[in-house]
Amino acid sequence: MKSLRDLLVAPSGTKLTDRDPEASPLAPGSKDKTLRGLAKDGAELAALQECLYAEGKGGGTRSVLLVLQGMDASGKDGVVKHVIGQVNPAGVRLTSFGKPTKSELAHDFLWRINRALPPAGYLGIFNRSHYEDVLVVKVHKWAPAREITRRYRAINEWEAGLVTSGTTVVKCLLHMSPEQQRRRLEARLDDPTKHWKWNTDDLDERLLWPDYMAAYQAALDKCSTDVAPWFVVPSDRKWYRNWAIGRLLLETMREMKPQWPDPGLDVPALKARLESDGVR
Ligand code: ATP
Ligand code: MG
Repeated sequence: MKSLRDLLVAPSGTKLTDRDPEASPLAPGSKDKTLRGLAKDGAELAALQECLYAEGKGGGTRSVLLVLQGMDASGKDGVVKHVIGQVNPAGVRLTSFGKPTKSELAHDFLWRINRALPPAGYLGIFNRSHYEDVLVVKVHKWAPAREITRRYRAINEWEAGLVTSGTTVVKCLLHMSPEQQRRRLEARLDDPTKHWKWNTDDLDERLLWPDYMAAYQAALDKCSTDVAPWFVVPSDRKWYRNWAIGRLLLETMREMKPQWPDPGLDVPALKARLESDGVR
């Protein structure tokens, strides 16, 4: 059977417009069944993550980095809550990237990204990422075109280095239609408990939709590499999006086959000591 990774991967040359944001390839069923599928996958993911964490404690150097990119309201926070929320937070390193601070801007764009990398054994999550520096920055022309071009290469080299040093990179583009974004923004306005999420600037960004899609397309064209490919995740349906990203992580971690470390304990001697220590 085909893996979800095979179906959602977007090698360089993939046209974003050919991908349907409402699709649900390989979903276990309709909404309810898929939600149950996510819970089931979550349990297995949690077990694999615990093993990877143990491997890291035992001297292993591997880690996983999940990169989440998407337009406002595409569900980056929802993925963190519903997918990552299923694993032990002790082994997770979550970083949300907003507008760079003055001190961050004084460095190369990858500086703040490097500081947020997951340690060995960890599952790192980037809610937005270094790609903002070729997305929002490109759309608003906050950097010259030649600098954006330099950044694609810098990103490819940097990601290749990460992979070589043991970090598996899973890059997900949460692919949503502009109609779906309108519905979600409207729902935020209709629900006072969601008003805290409201940001009127999002309406200005929305006007730039075609420019954003062109920038995402360029990011796919330039930075979907063999070692760190992009996955385009249909995200108009939240239940599918969450299941799919959980499944992409599960397939990735199954393939990694994390190993329990063997610290070489002398079990009989330790048990004998415990039994005879007199503490009762
Ligand atoms: P939500 O989807 O819930 O609104 P968010 O990810 O949009 O969450 P915000 O704090 O509202 O979180 O927005 C972060 C903002 O920071 C985005 O507008 C993003 O484009 C911007 N940003 C992130 N990285 C960079 C960067 N390198 N340069 C410029 N702007 C950036
Ligand atoms: Mg926002």
